[in-house]
Amino acid sequence: MKLDDDIVYLKGVGPAKARLLASELGVHTVADMLEHFPYRYIDRSSLSTIATLTEENNYVVLRGRVSNIQTVSTGRNRERMTCDLYDGTGYIQLVWFAGTKWVRERLKPNVDYLVMGKPSVFNNGWQMTHPELEVERGEWRTESGERREENGERVSTLSTLHSPLSSPFLPVYNTTEKMKQGWLGARTIAKLMEALLSQLPPIDETLPQEVVMRYRLASRDQALRWVHFPENQQQIEAARTRLKFEELFFMQLDYQYAHSERQLHSAGRVFSVVGDHFNDFYKQLPFSLTGAQKRVVREVREDMRTGRQMNRLIQGDVGSGKTLVALMCMLIALDNGCQACLMAPTEILATQHYQTFLRMLDGLDISVELLIGSVKSAAKKRIKTRIANGETQIVIGTHALIEDDVHFHDLGLVVIDEQHRFGVEQRSKLWAKAVPSPHVLVMTATPIPRTLAMTLYGDLDCSIIDELPPGRHPVRTYHRTEPRRPLVFSFLKKQIDAGRQVYIVYPLIHESDKMDLKDLEDGLEMVQSYFPRPQYATSMVHGQLTAEEKAFEMERFKQGKTQIMVATTVIEVGVDIPNATVMVIENAERFGLSQLHQLRGRVGRGAEQSYCILMTKDQLSYTSQERIRTMCSTSDGFQIAEADLRLRGPGDIQGLAQSGVLDLKLASIVDDEPLVAATRNEVRDILAADPTLSRYPLLQQYIEHSKNKMLWGKIS
Ligand code: ADP
Ligand code: MG
Repeated sequence: MKLDDDIVYLKGVGPAKARLLASELGVHTVADMLEHFPYRYIDRSSLSTIATLTEENNYVVLRGRVSNIQTVSTGRNRERMTCDLYDGTGYIQLVWFAGTKWVRERLKPNVDYLVMGKPSVFNNGWQMTHPELEVERGEWRTESGERREENGERVSTLSTLHSPLSSPFLPVYNTTEKMKQGWLGARTIAKLMEALLSQLPPIDETLPQEVVMRYRLASRDQALRWVHFPENQQQIEAARTRLKFEELFFMQLDYQYAHSERQLHSAGRVFSVVGDHFNDFYKQLPFSLTGAQKRVVREVREDMRTGRQMNRLIQGDVGSGKTLVALMCMLIALDNGCQACLMAPTEILATQHYQTFLRMLDGLDISVELLIGSVKSAAKKRIKTRIANGETQIVIGTHALIEDDVHFHDLGLVVIDEQHRFGVEQRSKLWAKAVPSPHVLVMTATPIPRTLAMTLYGDLDCSIIDELPPGRHPVRTYHRTEPRRPLVFSFLKKQIDAGRQVYIVYPLIHESDKMDLKDLEDGLEMVQSYFPRPQYATSMVHGQLTAEEKAFEMERFKQGKTQIMVATTVIEVGVDIPNATVMVIENAERFGLSQLHQLRGRVGRGAEQSYCILMTKDQLSYTSQERIRTMCSTSDGFQIAEADLRLRGPGDIQGLAQSGVLDLKLASIVDDEPLVAATRNEVRDILAADPTLSRYPLLQQYIEHSKNKMLWGKIS
């Protein structure tokens, strides 16, 4: 057999199993099959005993004999079959709901079976449903034995063969319920894998030989054989290391190759001067920049004068002063005769940025425009004209900026706020609005853990603002449950009576979800009964209001006309009201960590001590508990991002979920940081010395294959 052969041709697979492998595991070819790795191994020397089972046991191997075989009809053509397995220490009931006839024909008393599966407690006894079963013949050694031909494809689950696997470690593979019903349990897969490997000629190496040598990696052939059938722990380690390395190496190659291609082919504008716009602004700043802000402005300035197109990510906690840095970078673009634009994810934010910019640029001769969907069409037309003829120097907007009829006179810098809200496609539309492509600065307040950034962005330039402006107190965060609501409300009362304002935020999973809106309205009612008019005034903002209505309510709150803002997460990012000192988050268990962190960032913006109160129900899942605990114990965005990555897994991080990036089989961005770093550096060195990979035909081949899979190449 060859690696690209269809798996259907492997003896023992056949059309039915092949269909299952494809639909359940995405396995189509021999190569795919080999990459269906065991997720763990069972050490055969450690059989479990029934007397010592606990409910924590996920998967055990038992050895014993069966008795008391019974079948009960459970409806038309349906039956349930049970038997007892006794292993000398106790009994466990084995249960089948499907395929009972076939099992019954083969179960025999006085035969030793190996039984594998997850034990559970049922009616005060142990039970195992649809266990995998195998006749035990003393030692688990390959012996020559008579092979009974079975009909159809069901031969392997209840095999009368000796185990063909000679290794002391049994590989355990992921299977699904559907697969088990189709006789494709973990043990069957092991047997198919064993047969497959014995028929395959040595498997070709894919990594450059020098890399294999430098890191003393197992060869690909060796690693694939060991990972399925290791003889000892060392082989498992060596195989996994090699395969993880390979996985990360090719991911790095994808990203970094695309990046270097772009650098070779796309020239950037040269912003050679820093002129009056920048300098006048700098002189009139009422405070001095933090060290981190200065460093980042310098990094961007350097970037924009090299002649390469800048792609830089600025990470910094909420309130760290990113927007200010972005504005200063935009002024450099203006100093070089270009326009600059800032794209924000919501109209509220765009409007707020616009107001901030007007305020900060007051007294300077700079024309700033706001372009959002809700601008009246006549006004929109005028704005677009001014953008096109270059009268407008700075444009702030939402995705309205990327509509086809928005033409820039000469767009030199694009700033994107809160990057994770925008799709890749939207971003690339902005790229196309000028030739050469504008420099790009992405600001995110959701810090990306270092390893993830290294992986995702290859060698994308990354600046970090890791310092808050002076005089900020960290927000104090507390966890409270429903019984203590009266105390929470009386605390809010004290804050309000002292002249502060508070947010109360409800989760809103889908902006259009009526249930969630009801939560919000109930919440409003409760709040208003505790904080009655006219003594107190409450605002409510949610996604079903029009932009004007939202802006109106936000403005009332901002001016202090209302003291309480009941809202959904539309207020999540960027809203800046320094007098607000308490953020109450209702049903906090329903929010993700980064969202909680974002919300908390709405307070603690002024000189007063601020508070965040996480309200949850009593009973919390493990991950909810961990999220709440993390929030209460740290306000460091990077620590929170790391925790988020651990709890959710990278595939789930906002914006990455749909991208298909980080679809790793073995390696973990969290736990394999040294390998991430090693592969990243290795690929960087290879590409630096040989950008076209002319000395690496195998890598070239790989690139050809994967070019159409590239999604993120466009942005990094
Ligand atoms: P971010 O965009 O990172 O959330 P902003 O740029 O909106 O942060 O800044 C938050 C607030 O801090 C703004 O009111 C801003 O004017 C102020 N600010 C920014 N930099 C400084 C600084 N160096 N010193 C004092 N205040 C600052
Ligand atoms: Mg901001």
